[in-house]
Amino acid sequence: MVAQLVLLALITLAMGLEGAGPASALRHLYLLPTAWAALRLGAAGGCLIGALAGLLQAPMVLPVIERIGLTSRTLDGLVSLVTPLALGWIAGRLVDQSRAHAGRLRALIEVQRGLAGDAPLEQRLQAVAGRVRSALGAGAVALVVSDASGTSTVLSDPPGARLDERSAAGWSLLTGRPVSVHDLWGDRRLEGARAAGSAPVRGLVLPLDPGPGVAGVLAIERSGDLPAATRIAAEEMAMQLALGIENARLTLRQRRFADELADKVAAATRRLRELDEAKTEFLSVVSHELRTPLTALQGFSELLLSRAVSAEQARRCLGHLHSEARRLGRIVTDLLDLSRIESGRAPELCREAVELGEAVEHNVELFAAEHRRHRFEWSPEGELPPAWADRDALDRMLKNLLSNAVKYSPGGGRVRITAGLAGYPPGMLELAVEDDGVGIPAEALPRIFDRYVRIPNPGTAGVRGLGLGLSLVRALAEAHGGSVEVESLPGKGSRFRLLLPTGSRRPGRSDLADFPASSLDTDDGGV
Ligand code: ADP
Repeated sequence: MVAQLVLLALITLAMGLEGAGPASALRHLYLLPTAWAALRLGAAGGCLIGALAGLLQAPMVLPVIERIGLTSRTLDGLVSLVTPLALGWIAGRLVDQSRAHAGRLRALIEVQRGLAGDAPLEQRLQAVAGRVRSALGAGAVALVVSDASGTSTVLSDPPGARLDERSAAGWSLLTGRPVSVHDLWGDRRLEGARAAGSAPVRGLVLPLDPGPGVAGVLAIERSGDLPAATRIAAEEMAMQLALGIENARLTLRQRRFADELADKVAAATRRLRELDEAKTEFLSVVSHELRTPLTALQGFSELLLSRAVSAEQARRCLGHLHSEARRLGRIVTDLLDLSRIESGRAPELCREAVELGEAVEHNVELFAAEHRRHRFEWSPEGELPPAWADRDALDRMLKNLLSNAVKYSPGGGRVRITAGLAGYPPGMLELAVEDDGVGIPAEALPRIFDRYVRIPNPGTAGVRGLGLGLSLVRALAEAHGGSVEVESLPGKGSRFRLLLPTGSRRPGRSDLADFPASSLDTDDGGV
């Protein structure tokens, strides 16, 4: 300012020395300090220096006008008298506007910066509320953000604001429309709080709408007038905030999606590794399981061939040969079933009406004779209709469930078998095998019917198995149009429930709709 004043004085001095009066060409130099002041100090500075320049010229211009009146020469002097003021005002205002614009841009960039980052969205918005407040020169700023469930969070500067559904913010949030209140003191809820003579408090609420719907509102309280530039700035910020909130939510969704995907890939990889390990284990177990009966067959047949044995010894050897051959047969059948299932085909069934009670009794006798430490309890619930089943498959399902009940209760105990008509679905027989053995942890239950799955348990570490029995039971049950379920508590025992159709009623289409198509057999011209 001092430099511009000095320049003014120098120009006046030069004009005085020149003595040319209002017609002096030097008078145009007054525009220089005026333009300079307008550029540096805006409209206020420009107007001040422009007015001073006019005042300094006045003693040279006005007396001449008084003397000779308004002529083209004196008019020229009059114009050059007011020109600095006009220049200072116009140039200063342009400078002020561009500064305000630059300030708004700076504030917007700050808001953008505040919205970026890794901190939780609420924390970022809280910091942004403070920046918006200082950028708009507001008394208070509140950001109301609502999520998909309709829950609203309020972040404000100064902190502590709450959302009143009857307020302008509540209304704007509900309708998605902006609200401008001339004087918030006029709100009846604030009555009595106004200090005498205090200025009206303007309220401006702008919806934050990034496109898919209103994500919240920006509420501003400001004393006195709300200049148009401030309103424009507020609208720009509201748009930035809306986009920022939408972006943050999208990023969050993407991250969640990526995490879920990574979890799924990790689980699938883990499962593949488990399957791979299980297959390796399966090969070693299967070769052992095959070798044991084969060794017995070889040994007993060599004994019979190489030595003269008594009739009694021969009968015993043949008995062993028979049971080992049957065991071998069972393993081979399981492996054949497995290969059928692996190639996506259902096990072959030859169905007929089978007395469930007979099949159970026969197996209970066999198991009771072989496993003396276990107590087998078999109780049918009244007269049972026959099952519509493949006799051999039913026998294999029973043997698998009973042998598991025995294997996984190594200390002995009770094995309870019950059978009756199932409540749901109708027309089904329910057979349950219950033991009080080691049980199965809840997290392992969904996997035990998968192929090769064996659940490690220190109590049954020495128990050998192929991890196939239950997958075959499930495949066979489903091929019958039935199912198998399990309930178990670690340390307490397990209960397997097998559902099979009765013989009096073959499953109709509506019943079968619940079961996988792959499990339906066509041996009897079924569906
Ligand atoms: P295997 O008995 O040959 O290992 P299964 O498919 O019959 O294979 O059983 C899969 C797994 O389910 C078993 O390894 C065992 O961990 C668990 N399991 C099956 N039946 C029982 C049971 N009655 N009690 C406890 N665990 C069981």
